[in-house]
Formats: sequence, structure tokens, C-alpha cells
Amino acid sequence: MTERPVHNHQYDVVIVGAGGAGMRAAIESGPRVRTAVLTKLYPTRSHTGAAQGGMCAALANVEEDNWEWHTFDTVKGGDYLVDQDAAEIMAKEAITAVIDLENMGLPFNRTPEGKIDQRRFGGHTRDHGKAPVRRACYAADRTGHMILQTLYQNCVKHDVEFFNEFYVLDVCITETEDGPVATGAVAYELATGDLHVFHSKAVVFATGGSGRMYKTTSNAHTLTGDGMAVVFRKGFPLEDMEFHQFHPTGLAGLGILISEAVRGEGGILRNVDGERFMERYAPTIKDLAPRDIVARSMVQEVREGRGAGPNKDYVYIDVTHLGEDVLNEKLPDITEFSRTYLGVDPVTELVPVFPTCHYVMGGIPTNVAGEVLRNADDVVPGMYAAGECACVSVHGSNRLGTNSLLDINVFGKRSGIAAAEFARTHDFVELPDTPEKMVAEWLDQMLSDHGNENAANIRFELQAMMDDKASVFRTEESLTEAREEIHKLKKRYNHVVVSDKGRRFNTELLEAIELGFLLELAEVTVIGALNREESRGGHAREDFQKRDDEKFMKHTMATKKDGLDLLSEIELTWKPVVQTRYEPMERKY
Ligand SMILES: Cc1cc2nc3c(=O)[nH]c(=O)nc-3n(C[C@H](O)[C@H](O)[C@H](O)COP(=O)(O)OP(=O)(O)OC[C@H]3O[C@@H](n4cnc5c(N)ncnc54)[C@H](O)[C@@H]3O)c2cc1C
Repeated sequence: MTERPVHNHQYDVVIVGAGGAGMRAAIESGPRVRTAVLTKLYPTRSHTGAAQGGMCAALANVEEDNWEWHTFDTVKGGDYLVDQDAAEIMAKEAITAVIDLENMGLPFNRTPEGKIDQRRFGGHTRDHGKAPVRRACYAADRTGHMILQTLYQNCVKHDVEFFNEFYVLDVCITETEDGPVATGAVAYELATGDLHVFHSKAVVFATGGSGRMYKTTSNAHTLTGDGMAVVFRKGFPLEDMEFHQFHPTGLAGLGILISEAVRGEGGILRNVDGERFMERYAPTIKDLAPRDIVARSMVQEVREGRGAGPNKDYVYIDVTHLGEDVLNEKLPDITEFSRTYLGVDPVTELVPVFPTCHYVMGGIPTNVAGEVLRNADDVVPGMYAAGECACVSVHGSNRLGTNSLLDINVFGKRSGIAAAEFARTHDFVELPDTPEKMVAEWLDQMLSDHGNENAANIRFELQAMMDDKASVFRTEESLTEAREEIHKLKKRYNHVVVSDKGRRFNTELLEAIELGFLLELAEVTVIGALNREESRGGHAREDFQKRDDEKFMKHTMATKKDGLDLLSEIELTWKPVVQTRYEPMERKY
């Protein structure tokens, strides 16, 4: 083994990730106990900053609304796979979450009377589906940017310590008489190539999504599911990973997001004949139906020959009737995106769009305090997760727009408080022996010359294959092929060569490591999808077109037998869905 400097640190709480969830947790944990945030990106570059449309809360600032309607919409939007107790907490605490941000200084758009303005978004309705409701608070189409900046400024105010460009590659788990306990994390420092062991009483994962397993995606390059994969490799389960959300309006051929706020403000989807086709699929709320339904309808239009463009492979979003002032005032960024990336001016032209992989509903299973579950019943003391990498499950099988910025604030806050309280009331548990050993050996192996495969090629093949075989529609055949392809890619991955052997800023090495995470999670996604012989939310099986509550009203839990072996078998078990007041119904809009 080559010598690699190892640095040791001790903090009460270590938070992995500095997006909305991680920083919201840090704002709670920082003032209570010694807290460190480890992040592979500079905090303000996290994907939360790309969020456009809004964050919802039943403030009832512009029309009648209440948190019970919000809970119902979330449960129905998630096609009843939502844990209803968690959804209720999120909808109730949404109101404080928005006010917290306002008090921290977030410049929301205002009504003429000075209240926080609210706009419509898909699936958010008045009185259990009667009509769309204005529930999303927003700051133009830069809501996430404003949230991220506001949270960062408040972390600085609370003296939270950041370790920027630190890649966490392992979580430390100490086996005790009472089972496994989280005792820290191992990070790789990009600037030096050194390893850092952080010994802590609690670890909070807030590492974001995994959309980069698909080629067509709205997700930033860095969304490679690291936290989920790290936890999974330790032998802990991942929940409901078969549910990835495909957002209806990605710029055609590119996947760059055109926010749903566009439809919230009145934008209309049209096929090649100019028809407003959503009237046929969701007669009551039309273009504002939840994303899974709109995405499937768009694919259906294309399949039936009503697509536009030279290859008839996209539809249009039409905002020409909204007028230049509304576009400039409320949707300036997406107007600019269309001009820059497609050369299309939304003021006068229809914008070509097609579904793009946007969000993962599944993730690290947690309870409502953010504590990580190691099976359907037991938690891992000291381990927490929040945000897109976690599965509470408030989104079930399909997340409603604006519920993620909400989720990261509500459950980021909860996990920050819970982790700090845990740290305050518990002593340090010893780290396992040489906690950095696994990572050090892994890096050495990646840097040794043991093959001739190229990581970029494997990544490209994985992404194209996932687009082809495991996206909006799936079948047993396509998923079986996907699984075989992933196995082949995993075998090739074992022979990847990293040509840069250097210590400083070795991004080639880290991208190869991230590819390993993606391969791991792609397999979990495909296996879950193969086993779920029904169609529900974001998971549409052409060979099982109906929702099957009798067999599948349950969460998938995927576990790996031998975490270090990329090819080791994945086992599926199940976790019950928490139902409180809403009986599953047919999902009509
Ligand atoms: C283009 C776009 C628009 C969106 N618009 C909306 C919207 O309008 N409303 C809404 O509700 N939702 C929206 N979403 C979804 C929402 O923005 C995200 O789900 C949410 O912001 C995720 O926040 P997070 O804190 O969980 O993760 P992120 O903001 O992605 O942050 C992840 C953090 O983890 C760190 N990290 C990752 N891996 C490691 C590692 N190995 N070691 C150390 N650190 C690591 C990163 O550095 C980063 O700081 C949008 C998403 C996209 C992509």
C-alpha cells in the first residue's frame, strides 16, 4: 500500500452534504453542539441552487388552503405509497419552514399587500382535487438559489465549520452489543489526496440524488448518489429505489429543466397538431396533473405519432399567451435557457420538451426524526439522513413539485435537531480499528494498473441503456436486459484504469469512484422495478398496467450481501406503508 497521509478530527455531529438539507440541519446542530459539514462541492454549488419553481406551504396567502388538503394531495400524488404520518408532519410544518426562511432573510416574491406570493403547481389542489390551488412560495424562478444562499449565510452566522471539496467515501460503523452504531465518516480531500477520519457521535447524510444514472436528466453532474451507495455498501438497506421521477418538461434532446412553474403560470402542453392533449388525460386539472401522469401522456402522444420535430419525438410547451412581462418577471431564467440552449424564444415560439429524469423518490430509509433504519423496525443509533438521499417516505411513488424544497427544510431541520440532541445525551463510541483502511485500499486498487477500461465509456453506456430500458415505461423484458447490461458494465468497471496517478485535484479518480456508485444504484433501481409487478406513480410497467394494492402496497427494501463486492447479490424485503386517514382510491385528476 502507498503511504497516504491520514488526518484525524473529532466533532459531535458530522453532516455529509451542504445542499438545502445539510445546511438546514447544520443551522440547528451548529448552535447546539460542535458540528462539521463535509461537502464534495462548495456549499453554494449544490444542486438545491438549481431549483427553480418553488416551495409549497398551505399559507393561504392568496386563496383558501389548509395543511390537510396539502397532506391529501401529497398522499394521492404519491399514488398511496406515501407514509401518511410523515406527509402530515411535512404539510403541517411547511408553514413554519417558510416563515423560518423568511426570518433568515429569504427574498420571496410578494403580493401587492406585501404577503409572500404563491403560485400553482402540479397536483396541488383545493378541497381534495376540486381545482388547482396557489400553494407554492417562490422567488421568481430562482427559489432554490435563494434558499441555498440564505441557508449558507446563516450557517456562516452560526460558525458552522465547512470542509469543502471533501468526498465522503465511507461511514464508520462500530459493532456494539446492541448492534451497529454510526461513529464517523472517512473523507478524501480533493486538493491533496489525503484521507480524513472524522470521529463523531452522530452522522447526518444529506448527499442529494442519483439522477446521473440516466442520460436525459435535469440533475447536475455531481448527483451520483454517493451517500446512498456508501450506506448500501455497509450492508444497510435502500428503500423504493425503483421510483425515479421523470419531469415532463426537459428541453428536448438535452434534459435541461423547464420548471413546472411554467405550467403553474398558465403554460400549455401541445402536440404537433397544436392540440392541448392533457385535456384528454386529466380533464379536471389538465396540464397541472402530477408529473408521472403528464410524463406518460407526453410519451403516449409521441408513440401514437403526434410528436413534433424532424423525428416526431417531442411535444411543445406553449407560453406565448402569457406575454413578455410575465415571462420576464416570473420566469426569467427558463426563458433564457430556451433561448440559449435551443435558440427558441418562448415569447413568440413553442418550446420543444420531453420528459427528463429529475428526482429519486427512494433512498436511505428513515423515520420522521431522520434516524436511519437498518430494517423495517430498527434504527442505527447515531445515523441520520435527510433530503433527496433519504426516504421518509413523504413522496411515495411520485413526488409533487415544490415538495422537495419543503422536504429538505422540514426534515433537514428535524434531523439536525435529532442528531444534536443525540450527541448531547451520548458519549463517543470508539471507532472501529483503522477506519480508513477500506478506503485506502480501494483508492490504491483504483490507481493500480489492472485493466484497460475507460470510466467515461462505461458511464455513457450505462446512462444510454437506462434511458432506453428503465425510464418512463418499463417491461420485464427491458428490465431483465437492463440488469444483464449492468452486470456486464460492473465486470468491466472492475478493470477501469485511472490514468492520472497524482494526488492533487485528481478528479478523474473521483469520477471513476462516482461511476461505481451509479452502477450500484442502477442495479438496485432495476431489481426493484423488475420485482414490482404493478404500475404505480413514477414506475409504469407496460406488462402490469394497474396498481396492485393487494400485492404491492409496501415499500421495497434492497440490501446487499457483501458490500465490497460490486457483483454481490441484492436481496429484497418489504416494509409496510403507514396509512392514517386516507384509503387508497383510484387516482383521477
Ligand atoms: C433543475 C432542478 C430544479 C428543481 N426545482 C425544484 C423546485 O422548484 N421545487 C422543489 O421542491 N424541488 C425542486 N428540485 C428538486 C430539489 O431541488 C432537490 O431535490 C433538493 O434541492 C435536494 O436537496 P439536498 O440538500 O437533498 O441535495 P443537494 O442540494 O443536491 O446537495 C447535495 C450535497 O451533498 C454533497 N455531497 C454529495 N456527495 C457527497 C460526498 N460523497 N461527500 C461529501 N459531500 C457530498 C454535495 O456537495 C452537496 O452539497 C429541482 C431539482 C433540479 C435538478
